[in-house]
Amino acid sequence: MNKLAERYTAVLNRIHNAARRAGRNPDDITLVAVTKTWPVEVNLAAYAVGIRNFGENHPEELARKAEAVATKLGADSGIVWHQIGVVQSRKTKLVAQYADVLHALDRLKIANRLSRQLADNDKILPVFLEVNLSGEASKSGFQCTRWEEDATQQADLRKVVEHITNLPGLSLYGLMTMAPWHVEEAIIRTVFRRTRLLAEWMQDTFPVIQEPLHLSMGMTDDFEIAIEAGATHVRVGRAIFGERNYSY
Ligand SMILES: *Cc1c(COP(=O)(O)O)cnc(C)c1O
Repeated sequence: MNKLAERYTAVLNRIHNAARRAGRNPDDITLVAVTKTWPVEVNLAAYAVGIRNFGENHPEELARKAEAVATKLGADSGIVWHQIGVVQSRKTKLVAQYADVLHALDRLKIANRLSRQLADNDKILPVFLEVNLSGEASKSGFQCTRWEEDATQQADLRKVVEHITNLPGLSLYGLMTMAPWHVEEAIIRTVFRRTRLLAEWMQDTFPVIQEPLHLSMGMTDDFEIAIEAGATHVRVGRAIFGERNYSY
């Protein structure tokens, strides 16, 4: 087996074991392989070992790779492109055209622009709302730092959800969160568990939500903790591809 296949298999095994520990079905967890900064040859090598879900941070990079991969493998490759980073206004068109899933919807302005552009493409884009539970200023997302007791945060979230579920072209697919950096495991675990409880509360409280919400949480350093807390999508880069190549 080559190095990439070995690392990929190791990550799949870790996902499997974490799911089993939590009494969950490993098939309910999607591994999004994060290829940001790597050249498109890495995506093709990953495809060859069976990877179909790719995550990118920057819409230009996603668009460039999606074009290149489609040229090489055709339109029926089965690849799903995940835009995992926050999107700036002037980049929404690329997301509307090339992304299959958006993990980091953090502002209504972006939702509105995407909705108009998706309508032109006759496409439905599943979106995760990014939620900030840790309160770290470096984290984007809707403020849910005290959602359990803060009626204002709850009311704001309700407005966001109602707005998005009414927009053509977008379908509310789940919540995405990032754990705080450099903190002990117990704090990370709490952020992930509170995010799952938030999703459950939203499903119970907002009638416009008709499908169970998915949970995008967990990266190389914390994906097993996230799975134990209920993640359905983990976004893993370094554990599969090694330390990132920033010289591109
Ligand atoms: C880079 C990135 C990841 C993957 O990080 P690793 O530590 O390489 O697993 C996941 N999610 C987002 C939003 C990212 O930007």
